[in-house]
Amino acid sequence: SREWHLTARPDGWPNPHLFSLREAPVAAPEPGQIVVRNLYLSVDPYMRGRMDDVKSYVPPFQLDRPMDGGAVGVVVASESAQYEPGEHVLHQLGWREFATLEARHAVRVSEDLAPLSTYLGVLGMPGLTAYAGLLEVASFRADEALFVSGAAGAVGSEVGQIARLKGASRVIGSAGSDEKVRQLTEEYGFDAAFNYKHGRVTEQLREAAPDGIDVYFDNVGGDHLEAALHALKLHGRVTVCGMIAQYNATEPPPAPRNLSLIIGKRLRLQGMIVMDHSDLMPQFTEEVSGWMRSGELKYRETVVEGIENTLDAFLGVLKGENTGKMVVRLNE
Ligand code: NDP
Repeated sequence: SREWHLTARPDGWPNPHLFSLREAPVAAPEPGQIVVRNLYLSVDPYMRGRMDDVKSYVPPFQLDRPMDGGAVGVVVASESAQYEPGEHVLHQLGWREFATLEARHAVRVSEDLAPLSTYLGVLGMPGLTAYAGLLEVASFRADEALFVSGAAGAVGSEVGQIARLKGASRVIGSAGSDEKVRQLTEEYGFDAAFNYKHGRVTEQLREAAPDGIDVYFDNVGGDHLEAALHALKLHGRVTVCGMIAQYNATEPPPAPRNLSLIIGKRLRLQGMIVMDHSDLMPQFTEEVSGWMRSGELKYRETVVEGIENTLDAFLGVLKGENTGKMVVRLNE
């Protein structure tokens, strides 16, 4: 079985030479354990943080050990009464072809209910992030105007659509290519969208939201957060979900420079970690899968083939090569 190892810690953009795809034996299952052949691996922006040796809400990857992350696979051997070979599970031992794990650390998923890859995206961790971050953290309500950055990505595309389905007065998104901007308005039903590479975010947001915004869902940080602070109305709220613009930075970001606006506008900025919201999972699953069935909520995936391309897929997320959720499909 092949598995990805981090061999040294990056400084700035991760250099592919710091990673190695290595051969390792598949551990035989002990009582209570299952062996899973992975079918889909998740690559996510938060994994960049785990490459640094700093204390955080998830421990750093260990050097010369298999990396991990979300994965969906098929049970091929079971020493647990809970699972039969052939069943599909979601678990956390990604970045490898085969995983041996405690059955209680797996979650059963069904191909009959939704395509297997969606348990890593629209129906999985990024989807719950969107749902909880918008409705619980930002307390988003009908008739409010929303701006979301990273809007063509896994989390962002779902945030904008949930806001629309909850009766938003206006949904605005930003993304890094003209094709993504087109998708936002034409496929996902955003009211306005702009390419942040085409000019200053503050001016483009002011044009897209002349009456201001009530909620900003931040996936990017930096100049996007600065622009949102300008556009937010009195008592506006911000869900601070991610700051991908600075994950590879070696210098502190130059923006936002207008944090004092928080005082006069009585803004509420709140950070979030999706794990804190797992109690919302049943409600999220029911509501979002309903919208998927009715066709009211659309999703995209960018699928990269082969374990050997997992690192490129991960780096591709940091570079914006994905539309919607980036997943890696493993060959049989
Ligand atoms: P995405 O699918 O959105 O992929 C990341 C996207 O970020 C890229 O496609 C790219 O799109 C955009 N991007 C990259 N660099 C920049 C930049 N410098 N400026 C602006 N945009 C940039 O990833 P996810 O949906 O998985 O994650 C979105 C955000 O949510 C991330 O910040 C992530 O860390 C965060 N997150 C937080 C969680 C939490 O619990 N707090 C849980 C899950 C995700 P483009 O082409 O538009 O530039």
